[in-house]
Amino acid sequence: MNINEAIATLKENGHKYTDKRRDMIALLQDSNKYINAKMIQQEMNKKYPGISFDTVYRNLHLFTELNIIESTEFDGEKKFRLSCSTHHHHHFICESCGETQVVHHCPIDIFQTELPDVEIKRHKIELYGICEKCKK
Ligand SMILES: [Zn+2]
Ligand SMILES: [Zn+2]
Ligand SMILES: [Zn+2]
Repeated sequence: MNINEAIATLKENGHKYTDKRRDMIALLQDSNKYINAKMIQQEMNKKYPGISFDTVYRNLHLFTELNIIESTEFDGEKKFRLSCSTHHHHHFICESCGETQVVHHCPIDIFQTELPDVEIKRHKIELYGICEKCKK
């Protein structure tokens, strides 16, 4: 997902394309890692003084519904990033700098084998550790 794809997705779904929304998507794209709503609000506030949390949250909610962004919860708070792939994937998240890397392998078959009689409907797998850069 990049800015142009995100804007196209907004339009296709009948949502207004505004400078605020574009700037928010650009901010998420540039950070390339999970960031919280407070950070987004603070950054947006530089260009749009007085922008409310409510506006930021409403847009984050909309972007999540349209699969423009992905959200997760760690360190006790909800965080957001631009969707990295429309295919099923997982993330490695660096606990030091917050950078994420995509993992395409999905081990869900192993769990299904161990629990043959249940129907697994959803799952959430995240890998945490220290990235190459932070290891140095
Ligand atoms: Zn992702
Ligand atoms: Zn790192
Ligand atoms: Zn999976």
